[in-house]
Amino acid sequence: MNIQQVNKELTGAQSIVITTHKSPDGDAIGSSLGLYHFLKNRGLNVSVVVPDDFPEFLKWMTSCEQILNFEQEQNKVKKLIEKADFIFSLDYNALNRIGELGELIQKTSAIKMVIDHHQNPQEFAHHYFVDTNCCSTAQLVYEFIDELKSTSEITKEIGECLYCGIMTDTGSFRFPSTTARTHQIIAEFINLGVDGSKIHERVYDTYSEHRLRLLGFALTEKMKVFPEINAAYISLSQEELKKFHFKKGDTEGLVNYPLSINGIKFSTLITEKENEVSMSFRSKDDFYVNEFANKHFNGGGHIYAAGGRSNLSLDETISKFVGLLNKYKSQLK
Ligand code: 5GP
Ligand code: MN
Repeated sequence: MNIQQVNKELTGAQSIVITTHKSPDGDAIGSSLGLYHFLKNRGLNVSVVVPDDFPEFLKWMTSCEQILNFEQEQNKVKKLIEKADFIFSLDYNALNRIGELGELIQKTSAIKMVIDHHQNPQEFAHHYFVDTNCCSTAQLVYEFIDELKSTSEITKEIGECLYCGIMTDTGSFRFPSTTARTHQIIAEFINLGVDGSKIHERVYDTYSEHRLRLLGFALTEKMKVFPEINAAYISLSQEELKKFHFKKGDTEGLVNYPLSINGIKFSTLITEKENEVSMSFRSKDDFYVNEFANKHFNGGGHIYAAGGRSNLSLDETISKFVGLLNKYKSQLK
C-alpha cells in the first residue's frame, strides 16, 4: 500500500463506502464505525454497509443507526455501491464472504482497499493493509490512521469503536495476539476518556435471561467432551434455539467455553441454521483450525479461530465431525 496515494484518492473521493463481513461481530462493526467517524470528521462523504444485521449488544456505538443493512435496503445499497468511488473491505478478504454484496463490489470500478487480519487475502482490491499477526481489524484501523500521521484526529467516539473491536477479537486482551502495542493503543483510548469497563458491560453484561439459560443448557446438556484427545463440541438444533427464543448474537462466545476445561485445546460449535449447518472452531497451542475448517467444512479464518459450513443435516454433520476427530487423534494429543 502506498499511503500517499491512498490519502490522495480518499481526499478526492466523492463517495466512500465501508463494508464488512456477514454476521458482523464486534471487530467488524467497531472497525467500520471507527474508520467511518475518522473519515466523516475529515469532511468526507462516507457510509457503512453490512450484508445482514448485527447483534443488539453492539448497538450502542455512536452512529450505529446510520449503518445500512443490505438485506433490508437492497436498492439503496445497490445505488450507493454503484456510485461509490472508494470502497473499503474491513475484517474480510474475499468477496465471496459477503454474498450478493460481493458481486456488486466486484462489478464497480471504484478504488478498493482491504484492511484485514485474516489469512490468504484474495486479489480483488487496489490496496491491501493486511497483517495476519494483528489481533483485530480495529487495531489495523488505528495503524492505518497512524500511517496517515493522523492519530491526533482520533476522538473519544473513534476510540470507543476501536476499543470494542480490539476487546472482542482478543477475548478482552487475553489471546496470544494481544501485544504491548495493543495495550499502548488501548491506553491512548483510555486517555481520550474511553470507559473500558462500561464497554465491557455493554457488550458482555446485557444478556437476556433466555440467552444465559441457553448457555446453561448448551454446557450442561449439549457439550460432548473427549478428554483423551483434548477436544470438545457443542451442537444446537433449530428447535433447541427456538425453545430459548434465539436472537442474533445469542451464541456469540459460546464456542470458547470448552477451551476453559483443563487440557482441552480444540472446541467446536455446530449450529443448525435455516439453510445450512454453521461451524465455529477455536483452538490453542499447536492445533490450527483454519486448515481444518478449510479442508473439511468449506471455511477458513485465523489459526486459532475459524468458521465453516456444511450442507449435510445436523446429525450427519456431527457424525462427519466426530469421524474427523478420530482421524486427527495424533495431532490433538
Ligand atoms: P466465527 O466462528 O466467529 O464465525 O468465525 C471465526 C473467524 O473465522 C472469524 O474471524 C471469521 O471471520 C472467520 N471465518 C468464519 N467463516 C469463514 C470462512 O468461511 N472463510 C474464512 N476465510 N474465514 C471465515
Ligand atoms: Mn476480526
